[in-house]
Amino acid sequence: MALSHNLIRRLQNPALFEAIAEPAWLGLAADNPTFAVFNPATGALLADIPDMGTAEARAAIDRAGEAQTEWAARTARERSDTLWRWHQLIVQHTDDLATILTAEMGKPLAEAKSEVSHAAAYLQWYAEEANRVYGETIPAPSRDRRMIVIKQPIGVVGAITPWNFPASMVARKISPALAAGCTVVLKPAEQTPLVAGAMFALAEKAGFPAGVVNLVYASEGDAIGRELCANAKVRKISFTGSTEVGRLLMRQCADQVKKLSLELGGNAPFIVFDDADVEAAVDGAIQAKFRNAGQTCVSANRLYVQAGVHDEFARKFTERVRTLSVGDGFDPDVAIGPLIDTRALAKIEAHVADAVERGGSVHCGGTRIEGAGTFFAPTVLTGISRDMRIAQEETFGPLAPIIRFTDADAVVREANDTIYGLAAYFYASNLSRVWRVAEALEYGMVGINTGRMSSEAAPFGGVKQSGMGREGSRHGLEDYLEMKYLCMGGI
Ligand code: NAD
Repeated sequence: MALSHNLIRRLQNPALFEAIAEPAWLGLAADNPTFAVFNPATGALLADIPDMGTAEARAAIDRAGEAQTEWAARTARERSDTLWRWHQLIVQHTDDLATILTAEMGKPLAEAKSEVSHAAAYLQWYAEEANRVYGETIPAPSRDRRMIVIKQPIGVVGAITPWNFPASMVARKISPALAAGCTVVLKPAEQTPLVAGAMFALAEKAGFPAGVVNLVYASEGDAIGRELCANAKVRKISFTGSTEVGRLLMRQCADQVKKLSLELGGNAPFIVFDDADVEAAVDGAIQAKFRNAGQTCVSANRLYVQAGVHDEFARKFTERVRTLSVGDGFDPDVAIGPLIDTRALAKIEAHVADAVERGGSVHCGGTRIEGAGTFFAPTVLTGISRDMRIAQEETFGPLAPIIRFTDADAVVREANDTIYGLAAYFYASNLSRVWRVAEALEYGMVGINTGRMSSEAAPFGGVKQSGMGREGSRHGLEDYLEMKYLCMGGI
């Protein structure tokens, strides 16, 4: 089977994307094994796509290795122009890409469109940034010397992406790599390979030379991950996903001291101080918690609210949560789509049960919604204590635990008391508090009076066990460049 008729009939330009499930499109034999991709909102089969293994990954790495020198030798302007054409094609086909994304991942179509625009914004940013790979001239300590630093592409990059932002994660990794002059082998998440495939179909139209971008579909990550780490032609791994797999990849890269960028899990605190604008904080918390049904690495996982505004915040927040409608992402009135799979449902159920057993109260939601899809009702819990699983672990679902606090210094210590350090948020108006808290939070990103901060222009990434390296901004480009020091004597 290729793409399902149900999916094809939703597309405006099906001819552009029909091939993405075909073995021949990936240079594979017609009888290559396949795996199934499902719609989490309905359980319907969307496609059977080629399941690739170590041999196919090795072939893709070989192609990337062969293409790399020639790609790096192109002028920055030439690389930029191709990235720009890819950007324009993604913009032009936003509706179809968003449709494929919603079908395989479940998020509401409006959110999917905004994700595709975000993906396109990375391509635009790095099309521009490709032209600004500057070196340095160092004042030499003696007259007969000249000392300079040049920047060169790292080489072949292995990229592994998660299912929760299946379009923007692809763009966020591939575009800086290509701008730098690297070539890429990408393995998208097994739950959401189709939008990656659709983006690659557009990359072909944009005119990237053969071997510059290579796609490996696989029904699980282990075999491809091992090959990418063990193959000496791959000079860098860029991974977004769980901290557990991030640790494994680090171990697998150790023998070759292979470079790694890791964007891993989070456990974001969202703190509302007494001097906050409560209405604005409620808005911010709804965004930071419930976007993508809470399945974001920067999701507000713990809502700390100071005693003076706690009851007002809890009441207004719960009222808003009750209005969030849950259902199929293709329904325009839906704000919360399904969770990615039944494992995700089981985890959120376990977190609710554990909190209730230890004295927490459910203000709204708290249960799964019966039916074909993997839906969970948006949930607010209060009476939360530090020993509960939700206070320690990333829930990755539409569950908001509200924790009352009194001491402003103690709450920052508690917010920092986690192995993670990706994103934190706080709402306050006192300027000296704003600075002190912003500096004291041990996180790679801090949202101050906002619940949303991701941007192609800013460095996205975490500290502690949330990872290493940054994506986006000029810093994201540096992660794909090596510096070389040149020293010329006898001048
Ligand atoms: P996951 O780690 O299970 O999977 C992510 C990717 O890794 C998938 O492509 C998967 O196939 C692959 N993978 C799985 N096992 C592998 C292995 N042994 N070797 C190589 N690759 C392997 O994560 P998930 O549950 O799909 O995604 C959710 C996680 O991703 C959450 O923890 C979330 O916080 C994190 N995340 C982080 C960011 C960020 O920027 N920091 C962004 C989005 C998601």
